[in-house]
Amino acid sequence: MTPTQVSATVLDDETRESDAGDALDVADLVARITAGHVVTESEALQVLEVPDSETLALVGAAGTLRRKYFGNTVKVNYLVNLKSGLCPEDCTYCSQRLGSKAEILKYSWLKPEEAVHQAGLGVAGGASRVCMVASGKGPSNRDVDRVATMVEQLKDEHPHIEVCACLGILKDGQAEKLKAAGADAYNHNLNTAESLYPQICSTHSYQERIDTVEHAKTAGLSPCSGLIVGLGETPEQLIEAVFALRDLESDSIPVNFLMPFDGTPLEGTWLLTPLDCLRILALVRLVCADKELRMAGGREMHLRSLQSTALEVANSFFLGDYLTSEGQDAQKDLEMIADAGFVVLGQESRDPVEVSAELRQAAAKVTSQTTEAPSCGSGCGSACAPQGCGPGGGGGEPVLRRRGAGTGQSPNA
Ligand code: SF4
Repeated sequence: MTPTQVSATVLDDETRESDAGDALDVADLVARITAGHVVTESEALQVLEVPDSETLALVGAAGTLRRKYFGNTVKVNYLVNLKSGLCPEDCTYCSQRLGSKAEILKYSWLKPEEAVHQAGLGVAGGASRVCMVASGKGPSNRDVDRVATMVEQLKDEHPHIEVCACLGILKDGQAEKLKAAGADAYNHNLNTAESLYPQICSTHSYQERIDTVEHAKTAGLSPCSGLIVGLGETPEQLIEAVFALRDLESDSIPVNFLMPFDGTPLEGTWLLTPLDCLRILALVRLVCADKELRMAGGREMHLRSLQSTALEVANSFFLGDYLTSEGQDAQKDLEMIADAGFVVLGQESRDPVEVSAELRQAAAKVTSQTTEAPSCGSGCGSACAPQGCGPGGGGGEPVLRRRGAGTGQSPNA
């Protein structure tokens, strides 16, 4: 039996569980998930062990769930870094951590008008969700008031745009204040397995992360919580983390691929191949079939030329740049959606050819806005960092962000 062949005989779960050693029949697994089956740990392990030669077939099978729940839409999200660096926490993967030597942009809170302006540029680029992020363990009540003002202003200008806040660990009453201001969602990633967490961070606990997501849910905010993969987790720990997200009922699941910034403890850590990344995304799709699955930071350097293939299982991504590093040129992001036959969420009733043309026009408009910034002459259309062009889908080290929020340069949006 090939890995994706639909079994002629429908076996019950108990029979399958005891059938150790059989090749994974992904098409049959997808059919059972559609009928309500909950993926088991042994099945999840088999998904991660699918050989390279059969990984595209795995993606195709898992992609039927993506199409069932999200059709051919891609949700475009846009990050605004409200406060960058200077964090007293010690998360090993983070360029903003205590003691980080990474030469990232460091600035305190953006003014509300600047934050709303930056968000609006992402909306013009096709984003239907804006993620407002600040470094730090968690906000003070004054910080929450500040972000609430930004959310209100953003909602006044763009009432149909979803706003997600990401401010760290919340204290009592803070999620409620954000909800009252109009925020739709709150992001706080579990990041990795509880069993690995003590090696990843010592200044706050895994349980505090769970509690914050639960707090946001109780306040009526849509929970957004996801992963960073490539930290050195075992397959079992990866499954532990994905199952925790399933238990948490996270509505949207960003999957970040470690960007090993120079000057951080995980500098030089490259543990993923592009096909590993596809298997991980396929696993999350199979385990959390109807949830928004977002390919997030590091997709360019880890998925490389397979980014558009990943859209077959992931139905969401971040447009343009990340918090402290530059992403692929936003025009390429939009072209990737159109080229792969997808449409941007919110524009799905439109003729795809027309949408594609419009996206290119929007990208061209943003490109022309960036011409005031110095360029390396590569023709990518972006303002260049001193290190040269961003990852651009070609892999390589993280390129530190030098445009957008906190700079005088136009963003990559
Ligand atoms: S992940 Fe957040 S809390 Fe951890 S070091 Fe980075 S900014 Fe600070």
